[in-house]
Amino acid sequence: MHQKEKEFRDYLKEIALLNEVLSLLGWDTSTGMPKEATSFRSEVKGYISGKAFEMSISEKLVSFLTYFEEHTDELSKDGLLLFEKVKENYELNNKIPVEQYTEYAKLITKAEDAWHQGRLAKDFKRFEPVLEQCISMIRSFIPLWQKDEKTPYDVLLNKHEPGMTTEKLDILFSELRNGLIDIRKTLEEKGTPPRTDFLTRHVPKYQQDKFVREIARKIGYDFNKGRLDDTTHPFMQELNRNDVRITTRWNEHDFKMAVFGVIHEAGHGIYEQNIDAKFDYTPLTNGTSTGIHESQSLFYEMMIGSDKDFWRENYSLFQSITEGTFDDIDFDTFYKGLHHSQSSFIRIEADTLTYPLHIIIRYEIEKMLFNDNLPVSELPRVWNEKYEEYLGIIPKDDLEGVLQDVHWSGGLFGYFPSYALGYMYAAQLRHAMEKDLCMKDVFKQDVYLPIREWLTHHIHQYGSSKKPNELILNATGEPLSSKYLLDRQREIYFDVYDI
Ligand code: ZN
Repeated sequence: MHQKEKEFRDYLKEIALLNEVLSLLGWDTSTGMPKEATSFRSEVKGYISGKAFEMSISEKLVSFLTYFEEHTDELSKDGLLLFEKVKENYELNNKIPVEQYTEYAKLITKAEDAWHQGRLAKDFKRFEPVLEQCISMIRSFIPLWQKDEKTPYDVLLNKHEPGMTTEKLDILFSELRNGLIDIRKTLEEKGTPPRTDFLTRHVPKYQQDKFVREIARKIGYDFNKGRLDDTTHPFMQELNRNDVRITTRWNEHDFKMAVFGVIHEAGHGIYEQNIDAKFDYTPLTNGTSTGIHESQSLFYEMMIGSDKDFWRENYSLFQSITEGTFDDIDFDTFYKGLHHSQSSFIRIEADTLTYPLHIIIRYEIEKMLFNDNLPVSELPRVWNEKYEEYLGIIPKDDLEGVLQDVHWSGGLFGYFPSYALGYMYAAQLRHAMEKDLCMKDVFKQDVYLPIREWLTHHIHQYGSSKKPNELILNATGEPLSSKYLLDRQREIYFDVYDI
């Protein structure tokens, strides 16, 4: 390796070390920090993130970028990928003039507060003026970020899912929307809803904890490189590939929440634990996009954790850990109960069949805001109309409707689609995996290592060195399609509803 690349890497390592400290502080803030410590914590986080940000836009960094622009031949193969990633991040961070960015940051703080006020009053009007200002600022940033994207909303999409366009999403999402609506219609007309009363039986936290740890371990989450803690809004936080932490919340009358929540976060964790060591201390050492990250968590949650054969092997473990609470519930009844589907207002409470519809609604609305200049005041009306059209329900107030998600108050637009993309990626990966592995045998043996290895080989190891579309194309041999998710949903739900 050339001396200059070594210096470049040493410099990036310093930034990575600061970021690792920030991750640890962030994890601690959401798990164990005493309540009164908030202001002290903000102080130290602000200080360290300031240092990391300064380094990421410093003259020294710029001098590396200019040097390598002229001397790409001095970079190793991975060094070149690294250079491109750093350049991409630098350009994204530097497009907006500092004064405007500071103004925007202040506005975001105000917006979050207004969003809370709106929620308390269940009234969008309280949030509307600030949201309007946020959106108009973002509209003014878009031309600065724009490269070759065709529409304003494409620019926002690209920030979260590189390579994704509204042109592709319009097709994928309309196929998915129509397909899901069809499935739901069939369930309603011909299906027998499963029994669900036993789902609220009391399962003490210690029993749930024992079960979920056992399952997370089995599917490949390495507790020697991670840990599970309690929190209010579950998340996965990686510090480095040997320290990848997951969190959950518990409800003793709804064991599904922690069971599927932990499997989901473990899927995110397994991704981060298996990224190639050669990317350590560089910006390539994390998952490549939110969509691909969700594909991994949803792979474990839906493609494994919702599989009938998976539960066939694991229901007896659940029964024994819950000490007799489910002795009168046979396997079939239990499995079917897990997959009861119903329209609901709140996205994060939706079942796996209806969930993508909640996302498609947000996508269509965001696209209208940025590509068709939909007035912000129209949001509640459009929101309610779409819920009625796609899910057959109308929110009774804005709290149940347009005010439910925090994302927009944080200026986060173009992010929601990743969730539905994750579902589609996951189903397509499973379809491809079945060509190499007999899933039935894997479940029967109750040993999940081959699945983890397949995912590591095709996805995990690359970190952010490959873009989402490239990963999916290489792993599955075709571009993203909505077909596999719809097939999978039919397979699961038609079985559950006896069709
Ligand atoms: Zn997730």
